[in-house]
Amino acid sequence: MKDKFIYGNWKMNGTNADVKAFLKAVDKKSKNEGVRAGLAVPYTALETAVKKAKNIDIIAENVCWAESGAYTGEISIPMLQEIGVKGAIIGHSERRQMFGETDETVNLKAKALLNADMITVICCGETLETYEAGKTNTFVANQIKKAFKDIPAEQARKAIVAYEPIWAIGTGKTATPEIAQDVCAMIRDTLGKIYNKTVAKDIVIQYGGSVKPANVKDLMKQKDIDGALVGGASMVAEDYIELINFN
Ligand code: PGA
Repeated sequence: MKDKFIYGNWKMNGTNADVKAFLKAVDKKSKNEGVRAGLAVPYTALETAVKKAKNIDIIAENVCWAESGAYTGEISIPMLQEIGVKGAIIGHSERRQMFGETDETVNLKAKALLNADMITVICCGETLETYEAGKTNTFVANQIKKAFKDIPAEQARKAIVAYEPIWAIGTGKTATPEIAQDVCAMIRDTLGKIYNKTVAKDIVIQYGGSVKPANVKDLMKQKDIDGALVGGASMVAEDYIELINFN
C-alpha cells in the first residue's frame, strides 16, 4: 500500500519562534511508517523550519513560476531550493479567491515545480454554491484538466492533488468520507483519462477541509484518499502528532 501523505498548512500564521517550538515538539514524533508528514509555513519561517525538521517535509504555501525577474513580491523555485525547501502548495482556494490565482497560473506553477522535481501540491475544490447546484464534478474535473495541461505523464505521476471543498475549509464542516471519496475517485478517473490508469494510481490525492484527529481515520480508509491537507488542526502540536500517527 502506498504511504499516506499528511501535510499541514499554517497559512498566514506562525513566527520563526512558533515554528521552532512546534517542530521541537513534533518532529521526532513522526514515525515515517506508512505516513509521509509535511508542513507548509510562511516564507519568513521556511529556513527555520528546514533546519529543525528531520522527518517532516517542509514546503512553501505558494511559489512563482518564473526563475527570476520582474515579479515584485514573488519567490521563485531556485530561492526555495537554496534554503532546502522541498516543494510548494499551489492554487489554494484562498489564493484563488483573494489573490487572483487562476487555473492558468496554477498550470504554470505546476509545470515549473514538477520540472524542478519539487513536491507539488495542486489544490482544487468547489464553492458551496457549486456544490449545492450539483456541479462539483464538472467544476473540479475542469480544474484538474487545466492544472495538468501539457504536463508529461512521467512528471504528472509525482504530483499531489489536494481536493478541498471550499465549504469545508475552516468551517468545521468536513465533507463526509463518502462525499470526499466520490470526488477523489472522480479526480482519479479524470487523471486516468488524461494519462492512463497507472499514472492516475501513482498520483497522491489528499482531502482537505476541517480534517482533525477525530475524523482523519475514517477519511484515510477511503480507497481514493491518499492523505490530508490540514489547516487549523496542524497548528496544534498534539493534534498534528495524532494526525501523522493516525495509523
Ligand atoms: P482547515 O484548512 O483544515 O482549517 O479546514 C484546510 C486548508 O485550507 O488547507
